[in-house]
Amino acid sequence: MSDKLYFSYNHIHKLCKESADKIRESNFKPDIIISIGGGGNIPSRILRTFLKQEGSKNIPIQVIGLSLYESLGTGNYDESQIGKEVVRTQWLDFGALDQHFDSLIGKNILIVDEVDDTRTTLHYAVSELQKDVKEQAERLGRTDEATNFGIFVLHNKDKPKKAQLDDEILQGRYYAARTLPDQWFCYPWDAQDIEFHSEQAIKQGFN
Ligand code: 5GP
Repeated sequence: MSDKLYFSYNHIHKLCKESADKIRESNFKPDIIISIGGGGNIPSRILRTFLKQEGSKNIPIQVIGLSLYESLGTGNYDESQIGKEVVRTQWLDFGALDQHFDSLIGKNILIVDEVDDTRTTLHYAVSELQKDVKEQAERLGRTDEATNFGIFVLHNKDKPKKAQLDDEILQGRYYAARTLPDQWFCYPWDAQDIEFHSEQAIKQGFN
């Protein structure tokens, strides 16, 4: 048995469809999707198909870029201080948002990534976006409007997390299509050989 899990495009499409139904049933209606670039892009786009309500506009998708890199703490070379830091490589285009959408203030914002591993990336994305919205709301005198964040991931790894999310999000607006044991997940967009990848996904029942 492989220690890696393979997921086909078909499987991912079905996970997004199923999750869109759950999001809708939970009465969270995203006004905008913020995709964590790379892994979040294909799930964001598929999810949008299934979240679209008849007669209403497509939900806009904005992409942010975040990378994790290994860092040593500021002190000695103590293993406990080796951690992962998040670096922003791309952020929101506020010009385009203001022109074609509106500000994020008072909106329902769904952050999308492919996998919640240590939770470091999702925690960073949520807290930075919360800060941006708070600053903007204070500047515009609109602090009475509630902005709600939700999270969608294809997979949540069942493991201790290195960063936490607000209870409000975790209890009410955290959507993981599947929670699986801690293994390496192979996504089709990373596959060098898509035939081999698909065969593995079929064998493992993820097609
Ligand atoms: P974090 O540890 O911050 O939750 O995970 C951040 C990123 O690590 C994810 O967005 C993803 O790009 C990458 N990652 C973590 N675990 C896996 C995995 O099992 N498979 C793949 N393809 N990427 C992963």
